[in-house]
Amino acid sequence: METCSEDGCENRAAVRVYVPWADDRDVCTAHARAIVQSEGVVAEPLDDAADNWR
Ligand SMILES: [Zn+2]
Repeated sequence: METCSEDGCENRAAVRVYVPWADDRDVCTAHARAIVQSEGVVAEPLDDAADNWR
């Protein structure tokens, strides 16, 4: 299982975020919802987590 790449977060990574000013990374849904508030960020659910994201 892959975990969220945010510091100190132990949640399962469920979403890949494409950040124009940083590396792409996999994060949990909670972090993804926060990150996508920033302009230009694209979030894509990982295949096995689409049900949790929608
Ligand atoms: Zn997280």
